Amino acid sequence: MKKLIIFGSTGSIGVQTLDILKSWGWAPVALTAGRNVDLLERQAREFRPQMVAVADKTAAAALRVRLADTGVVVSDNLFDVLDCECDMVLNAIVGVAGLPFTLAAIAAGRDVALANKESLVVGGEYVMQAVQRKGVALLPVDSEHSAIFQCLQGAARSEVKNITLTASGGPFYGKSRGQLAAYTAADALAHPTWNMGAKITVDCATMMNKGLELIEAMRLFGLAPQDIGVTVHRQSIVHSMVTFCDGATLAQLGVADMRVPIAYALSYPRRLDTPVPCVDWSTASTLTFAPPDEQTFGCLRLAKQAAAAGQAACVVLNAANEVAVADFLAGRVGFLDIEALVAQQLAADWPAVASADDCLALDAEVRKKMGAAGKPG
Ligand code: NAD
Ligand code: MG
Repeated sequence: MKKLIIFGSTGSIGVQTLDILKSWGWAPVALTAGRNVDLLERQAREFRPQMVAVADKTAAAALRVRLADTGVVVSDNLFDVLDCECDMVLNAIVGVAGLPFTLAAIAAGRDVALANKESLVVGGEYVMQAVQRKGVALLPVDSEHSAIFQCLQGAARSEVKNITLTASGGPFYGKSRGQLAAYTAADALAHPTWNMGAKITVDCATMMNKGLELIEAMRLFGLAPQDIGVTVHRQSIVHSMVTFCDGATLAQLGVADMRVPIAYALSYPRRLDTPVPCVDWSTASTLTFAPPDEQTFGCLRLAKQAAAAGQAACVVLNAANEVAVADFLAGRVGFLDIEALVAQQLAADWPAVASADDCLALDAEVRKKMGAAGKPG
């Protein structure tokens, strides 16, 4: 049994993590949310952590009153939960808002299970340096990265030739630019295979998600962008693969359920039972693979450009995407505007970065230029 702190426990990954903990009889020591106090209160009553924290101060004050009978400590400062004794921190916050907590958990010497891919997109070089310096483990929760991590067990870095990330293709696979222009947030939120938070669901529709994952993989596994391929695999059964120097490719397969990679990050290096069904290999089935269409889904192309250009470009890519996706979800811009807004910011002149603080400052600068106000989810 590991003592776990969960950042973002009220989100899609957070809720699925608690589902796994419950099935194992593990109890989290602390939970945090942006501002969803209704769900956080229910989670606090069910799991009785030592502490909960809410980013929104008014919401935290309300929750403190509601949980007065429980003895659960309520804070309005998310960093406070890191004072709880624990074996591992799971970061399931969405967006760059998660980066300071990834860094703080590493600085506190904690092993980190990372769902918050934006931490590695925005501050990857510095996050990985901190991981090395502190000698902590950084375990991927993102399904593709978990798949690669699983395939890499027992392999030497020099034996890896390249990796291939699988992509579902999203709800607009096969559509033309003309059709994409007309899609609304409601259309984008109807993802065919995965049930996720709103931001990542839109990222899947634009294929920016695969671009962010390419950068995430670069940082996690120390690979060059040209050693990371992307293939569209509509069935979402193969979660990614590694090709080795001898010509062998290993892949990890399973049904599309995030509880498998979540469980692996938590139980690593062992495996534990999950309630997730296995693929039935006794029936006939077909797995297909096709190259992505980067002309139609230009966000993937832009992410590759940023990956090749370096850390500052990755910060700009992510910030512009977060602002554009929020605007799209609010109905202020159209689907193809996401790509156009990101391209516009990537083409502008931005200062270089030399630290994680520089990355966060540049992120704020891009948002300011785009006229965005940050708000906890
Ligand atoms: P979500 O929107 O469902 O949940 C986000 C969580 O973060 C919530 O608990 C919310 O309260 C909290 N939060 C939001 N803004 C905050 C802020 N400013 N400060 C503090 N807390 C804040 O998101 P999700 O789908 O669970 O995704 C979480 C992360 O995991 C993302 O980085 C996503 O890319 C990654 N991920 C998700 C999935 C998935 O299936 N959902 C799969 C792979 C990777
Ligand atoms: Mg993924």
